[in-house]
Amino acid sequence: MMKVDHMSQATPAMQQYYAAKEECPDALVFFRMGDFYESFGDDAKTISRELEITLTNRGKSEDGKQMPLAGIPYHAIDNYLPRLIKKGYKVAICEQLEDPKKAKGIVKRGIVRIVTPGTAIDSSIITDAANNYLMALTSTFNPDGDSKKSKSNESKSNESKSNESKSSKSKSDKSGAGLKAGNNEETFGISFLDISTGEFFGSQFEDSAPYEKVISEIARYKPAECILQDTLAENELLMNRLAENKVKIETFSCAKSISAEVEKCESDLMKQFNVSTLEGMGFKGADYAVLACGKTLDYALKTQMRALEHIQTVQFYSMSKHLILDSMTLRNLEIIKNTRDDGENYSLIRVLDKTKTPMGSRLLRNWLLRPLVDSAEITKRLNAVSALKENSLMRYDLRQHLTNISDIERLVSRMMYGNSNARDLISMRNSLAELPGLCAVMKQMCETDRTQTESELLAEICDDISQFDFAAELSDLISKTISEEPPITVREGKMIKSGYSSELDELRSVSGDSKDWIAEFQTQQREETGIKNLKVGYNKVFGYFIEVTNANKHLVPENFIRKQTVANGERYFTPELKERENLILTADDKSVALEYEIFREVTEHVSSYAKDIQSMAHLIGKIDVLCSFAEAAIENNYICPQLDDSLEILIRDGRHPIVEKTTAEAFVPNDTEMDSTENQFLLITGPNMAGKSTYMRQIAMIVVMAQAGSFVPAGFAKIGVVDRIFTRIGAHDDLAGGKSTFMVEMVELANILNNSGERNLILLDEIGRGTSTYDGYSIAKAVVEYIHNKDKKGVRTLFATHYHQLTALENKLKRLKNFHIAVRETGSDLVFLRKIVPGATDKSYGIHVARLAGVPEKVNERAAEILKEIENESLAEDEGRSKKRAARYTQLLLFDPESDGGEERIVEKFIEHPEIEELKSEFKDLDVNNMTPMQALLKLEEVKEKLRRLEKEQ
Ligand code: ADP
Repeated sequence: MMKVDHMSQATPAMQQYYAAKEECPDALVFFRMGDFYESFGDDAKTISRELEITLTNRGKSEDGKQMPLAGIPYHAIDNYLPRLIKKGYKVAICEQLEDPKKAKGIVKRGIVRIVTPGTAIDSSIITDAANNYLMALTSTFNPDGDSKKSKSNESKSNESKSNESKSSKSKSDKSGAGLKAGNNEETFGISFLDISTGEFFGSQFEDSAPYEKVISEIARYKPAECILQDTLAENELLMNRLAENKVKIETFSCAKSISAEVEKCESDLMKQFNVSTLEGMGFKGADYAVLACGKTLDYALKTQMRALEHIQTVQFYSMSKHLILDSMTLRNLEIIKNTRDDGENYSLIRVLDKTKTPMGSRLLRNWLLRPLVDSAEITKRLNAVSALKENSLMRYDLRQHLTNISDIERLVSRMMYGNSNARDLISMRNSLAELPGLCAVMKQMCETDRTQTESELLAEICDDISQFDFAAELSDLISKTISEEPPITVREGKMIKSGYSSELDELRSVSGDSKDWIAEFQTQQREETGIKNLKVGYNKVFGYFIEVTNANKHLVPENFIRKQTVANGERYFTPELKERENLILTADDKSVALEYEIFREVTEHVSSYAKDIQSMAHLIGKIDVLCSFAEAAIENNYICPQLDDSLEILIRDGRHPIVEKTTAEAFVPNDTEMDSTENQFLLITGPNMAGKSTYMRQIAMIVVMAQAGSFVPAGFAKIGVVDRIFTRIGAHDDLAGGKSTFMVEMVELANILNNSGERNLILLDEIGRGTSTYDGYSIAKAVVEYIHNKDKKGVRTLFATHYHQLTALENKLKRLKNFHIAVRETGSDLVFLRKIVPGATDKSYGIHVARLAGVPEKVNERAAEILKEIENESLAEDEGRSKKRAARYTQLLLFDPESDGGEERIVEKFIEHPEIEELKSEFKDLDVNNMTPMQALLKLEEVKEKLRRLEKEQ
């Protein structure tokens, strides 16, 4: 890095550069010099490498070495900046703060903005369809053990006291302790801000390792950047999760005591929102949430270096108001991305997104990521979708209006931010112009509808949106002032219509009149000098000139003053021409400045309605999403589900919303019946590839869709609201995090067993598959028993397994039901019928599936032989089992099924053989450091032999 002590010897411009670099040492500095943004030293090397641009040298640096230099043309910043930001760099833009032409001495320069992934507003960096969140995370986490207390941490927030807190308390129970990464509960404050839209919200809750609530919020909102309290940066688990989600991290430390920090944040937030308390926004007693929100705002202000007036409010949100979908569930159910390539194709959002506006597509994403849990609220959404579905013509009209509405939420943010142009005003005007039509259709819709489905939500939206009366006024103003096709730039004029400002019109007429004057002047000079091809022209650098070709140079009169030599002639001016030039250029400068002034006034006036425009944008988003649900329902033949507070899930002819669209074969619909009495735990068996996983996912996806307010792929659906979905599906490892496939499976399983509750839905696919058959089977069986008996109530669970022996549990566990996916065996062939039917399979058909997959016939035949041998052996073993078994295992009944309401738990305990004990102590005493490799191998061989013998004896 360049040393700042060279400042005194540096050129004035470089002194400015060093000062800028010192201000933002962790950012790449883009230093404006004329038409370029230059970078120097290490920054230049980084930029040249990352952007593949030439690295040059700028003479010698102050310490005698050459100074690396890399620059990009200022007008190409939109091409280059996004590439650096997407790679996680922070870029400080150092601009010329005055007009170089007018500057006395060196042009003033200063940093005007720091661009980071989470604070970017540039449309070249962020996408329309998703929010770009800056997140902050604060907590009581202290790597040294003591939880720091905030001023009111003792009296925890409303949220903390709620059922979230209770549920996390109950999880630090006896079971599964060995699988848990820790059980210290921390209070977390979290916040999310999208600077490009002004959306800002925060929460507070308790969580403990492995921090699944924090991690599920990260997965839900996919922040681009996270401001992390420094103590948390020492938390490896969180850091790994943030890294996996490619979140750029900034840390902050609480310089003062936590309570002083909270106070400062509270006062900053109150100042920003011009309120005297944050209680009205729901932050009563939620100190860590206040801290997170305050730090977010502070970071936003420091990087943007201007007032962020479009951030008009912050809302406290409660996790318990939404169906919790953790990161694994979002992934497994392919809500936003598919599991094949992490793309949006083949995801639920792709199937459902028929929105027409960016506000709609962002809101749809939010609704899918945060489905509701209040059955009445959900029903309101569903009624609105029903009404829109029924009224095709009106829906068509609404969507026509929506098509012409741009991203007014981000437009108004850009305007307030001072980053908009005249085209944005035209887009705003065109969008506002759709409002009266949109409102009229909504009204018509509600009037026709009130008598039919009572769509309360549509009526509410209609009432709210009709209240805005500023649209006509703003549209008029923009129409009167801004020309229909303005340029992108705002400093070169051509934005303002003539007829709006007489001053501007006059200034323009000076330029216009001057054209005639110049033409006349040219004719006059030609006549006076006799030079027929004499030309009067203009260029940006030299101004107005009279051009004479070399052949006519001798005819040039004395009053022509030489200005410039060109290839085939000379250029001159006269005092008269110079005078006119001054007049024209001053008028041009003045008119450009005036145009900018008018543009700013109009922008400011539009911005003064920011809060209303933001609310309106949200309502437009809602209409768009509801229409999109109706559209998807028609296109995909979905029906309206019924939601209630029971613990049932009844689905007739349910389908998987993605597989039904992608599978080559006709999709076979299936029924589901779940309740809390007899069909709480569905144990699903069937060969690999039969459709078990598809069936389980389709149920969970129907639940997610229904609770988001969408119609569902089924013939009939009645859903007792679910408040959390857990999934453990498929095999993946986390080698970066040091975990094998099996370890990942067990960590996820531990999380489910420890945290699941009455209103949850659990999907478990092939539990125990990652380890040996006996281990795997034992774990699977214990898990079934545990979930079935949890809190004596159990949890709605779908459990697919290839351990068909587990089906025997149906006789012991009263709320467990066996189901299997039917197949037809024809000789050695297998036909998947894809139909779920009651009862168990007695086979796993692995060899059939291997044959279908094209495994060589010889291998299949041999496998069939081996299977037969094993089955015969086990039959023989079964016959003579009694005595030997009694010696190896003992069954310990923890609960008597009769006396304790049918609850039972069986623990199979291995009784150690004395020789095994001997082996153990022998191993403990081994001095491995003093053994040769050969001795070690021989020892291993000896142990192996001993174990083999013992096994035979047993
Ligand atoms: P399993 O979990 O039993 O191994 P999957 O659920 O992965 O099987 O299903 C395997 C494939 O079968 C799926 O990729 C899908 O193409 C097809 N499939 C599953 N269920 C159905 C169905 N109900 N109708 C039509 N095809 C189905």
